[in-house]
Amino acid sequence: MSESEMPESSCPWCGHEMTHAADPFGMTAPKPGNIAICAECAGFLEIGADLSVNKLDPSTEVYLMKHQAKAYANLLQLQSVILERVGGDRTS
Ligand SMILES: [Zn+2]
Repeated sequence: MSESEMPESSCPWCGHEMTHAADPFGMTAPKPGNIAICAECAGFLEIGADLSVNKLDPSTEVYLMKHQAKAYANLLQLQSVILERVGGDRTS
């Protein structure tokens, strides 16, 4: 996984300010249409045409599930890792 700089934005799910995006697909920079995940709440995100961060459209998620099952499985795995880590932080 790589981390790359991106325009200042906040998570549309939890409001967490993001200056970096973790890229589950190992690409070097976020591009419009990329799917990312919030490191704070593990919400699925989609990079907009102006590199804004938007909630992943449910229809896009369904499309991924059906047509890019492997990529979707990676996202789910990443999500569970983030949720585990966040949960661990809160109980320690
Ligand atoms: Zn978030």
